[in-house]
Amino acid sequence: AQQDQVHERIAFYNKALEQSLLRRTTLLEALRSALAAGALSLALQPIVTANSQRIAGFEVLLRWNHNGENISPAEFIPLAEQSGLIVPVGYWVLEQACQILTEMPHTTASLSVNVSVIQMQDPQFVANVAQVLSEHQIAPGRLHLEVTETFFHQEQQGVKETISRLRLLGVKISIDDFGTGYSSLSVIQNLNIDYVKIDRAFVANIFDKGQSIIAAVMTIAHGLHFQVVAEGVETPEQAAQLAKFGVHFMQGYYFSKPLPPEQALALLPHKRQDSA
Ligand code: C2E
Ligand code: MG
Ligand code: MG
Ligand code: MG
Repeated sequence: AQQDQVHERIAFYNKALEQSLLRRTTLLEALRSALAAGALSLALQPIVTANSQRIAGFEVLLRWNHNGENISPAEFIPLAEQSGLIVPVGYWVLEQACQILTEMPHTTASLSVNVSVIQMQDPQFVANVAQVLSEHQIAPGRLHLEVTETFFHQEQQGVKETISRLRLLGVKISIDDFGTGYSSLSVIQNLNIDYVKIDRAFVANIFDKGQSIIAAVMTIAHGLHFQVVAEGVETPEQAAQLAKFGVHFMQGYYFSKPLPPEQALALLPHKRQDSA
């Protein structure tokens, strides 16, 4: 009887595994078709200056509505990364972002595009970024690329070189989800970067242990000359505290959720210079 139970359990696990594998395979195929059919879209979330709370730019976030269901990037981005589909998906996002930048000529507001390390390992990556920028006649400094530090240990050297070449082009580099990886401090020691985005877990804890960590990041920021963006700001109390700490930019539901591009661009002041 005991052996039957074990078999049943194995069968149960196999079934669960099979189902999750099936969902992943089905989703990946559907994502491939969605890309080809133009069924992906973007949302833009404002990033504001900490002192005047004016829009300095937007983060570009990929959206996928599949048969009426909004699939979270947290689910489909890892699938796209594992399969390599992130490379064409990423170029699509980049192209769209540059198109949007041409639609906001009266500001110097920036767009921040998430790129995964897999994309940066494409030998053509830097050349392709340069080409999209020049085709759309966009000042490279208006494009920020957000790289998550969690993945750096995988291919530190190649990534480091790619980042230097991107910065030589004039593109700005942000380290995303800072503090959540294994190598946060060595990453910022070994790379020249423009922005560090403090992960929202620390912002959520700002009246507790997050406080010391954010204070430490600000000290490092002054020494290493990068600016700090706080992610996931949800309350006015968090915003006030972050401003007190000297954080440069903030982003989060307290200011705005990610919006369809037309709605986001309508928030920009018209024909005024607002610098990121
Ligand atoms: P991320 O780059 O850290 O983006 C910020 C995430 O936090 C977004 O989730 C955003 O909607 C969410 N967020 C913003 N403000 C708040 C807030 O106040 N509270 C809370 N709880 N959440 C907030 P989203 O859009 O689901 O994206 C998840 C992740 O998927 C992103 O995290 C990014 O790593 C990845 N991703 C999204 N679009 C792309 C893309 O085009 N390419 C790549 N490679 N990755 C992408
Ligand atoms: Mg990001
Ligand atoms: Mg990210
Ligand atoms: Mg983040």
